[in-house]
Amino acid sequence: MTISPSSSDRERTTSGEAAIPATAAGALTIDLAAVAENFRRLRAAFLEKPLAAVVKADAYGLGAAQVAPVLVKEGARSILVAQPDEAIALRPLLDACHPALSLYVLNGLMPGTEAACVEHNLLPVLNSLGEIDAWRAEAGRRGRALPAALQVDSGMSRLGLQPADLETLQAAPERLEGIVPTLVMSHLACADEPQHPQNAQQLTAFRAALQKLPDAPASLCNSPGIFLGPDYHFDLARPGAAVYGVNPTPAAPNPVLPVVGLKARILQVRGIDAPQSVGYGATHRATGPARIATVAAGYADGYLRSLSGRARAWINGHEVPVVGRISMDLITLDVTGIAPDKVHPGAMVDLLDPQHGVDDLAREAGTIGYEILTALGKRYHRAYLG
Ligand SMILES: *Cc1c(COP(=O)(O)O)cnc(C)c1O
Repeated sequence: MTISPSSSDRERTTSGEAAIPATAAGALTIDLAAVAENFRRLRAAFLEKPLAAVVKADAYGLGAAQVAPVLVKEGARSILVAQPDEAIALRPLLDACHPALSLYVLNGLMPGTEAACVEHNLLPVLNSLGEIDAWRAEAGRRGRALPAALQVDSGMSRLGLQPADLETLQAAPERLEGIVPTLVMSHLACADEPQHPQNAQQLTAFRAALQKLPDAPASLCNSPGIFLGPDYHFDLARPGAAVYGVNPTPAAPNPVLPVVGLKARILQVRGIDAPQSVGYGATHRATGPARIATVAAGYADGYLRSLSGRARAWINGHEVPVVGRISMDLITLDVTGIAPDKVHPGAMVDLLDPQHGVDDLAREAGTIGYEILTALGKRYHRAYLG
């Protein structure tokens, strides 16, 4: 039995992947040059107006510490995360990248976080009158004006000021005293469905809201929103998923490059025959002689259990089906049709590659590319290219 990948495997790997240590069961490749190129392509689609860098959830699982500097280098000056702790962790790294980055906390001003936001130079996205009041009070305590974004709920019913709140603010503009609005934003619920009537409804609601709020740069578009056209663009876009390779136009070819590759090692290969079964629940049963390869990745690595019996993988360019249930640390492939010398302990199987990317795996799992990315586990060996 061979323990390291065969020489033919080595020939196929890129220089980054050749460095995978023998102790690593799986290897995740993150192409930072593709991240940069995707950002440029999205900015071109946004007619060269500014883009924010959305690096919440550790840059959708790909590593905010590695990704954020690339996007700053590409010109991003507004950086968006979801939670105050994410922002606090990222602030020193961002300060080292560029002296004037605006770091926004999308989830808003959680009670009791006012002082921490000021101390770490964070801009909360103020989502309610209560958050506005708390930020104004903090400005009063500090004796200086404090910057923040204002979010309008234009139809998603999740976060942001509702129409009645806008009326209240219009009648009592002093509630914004001491707050410098640096951005007025809203979020689209259906941008990935260009024909959905809610897009136009939200656009109308956002435009109406802008009339009632102080002048500030406006932002409506996430990744798919950019492709709804210039009416939706305003001053700043906030693409996340498309920067990381997820198709922002699901009904059309992907305008961005794949970013993520994933390989995992074969641990064992066995012959079985009818009526033997494979895996928990005995959900897969051999109908004749078959060969099963057991591979070192599972749902604890973000290879979702809903991929059981549905996903495809590739060995040296040959498609093989995932059979039986996904376990916590293991998956099983039917490799009956693959030449035995390609299927041995230590050999690598492609779980994500340019031919079978995050959107394909998401379809097989019954989910979206966003969930595939953010679920990627912490056990893989990580290599950043470019
Ligand atoms: C996550 C998020 C984005 C980015 O959305 P994508 O669909 O990943 O481009 C933009 N704006 C807000 C408010 C978000 O929460």
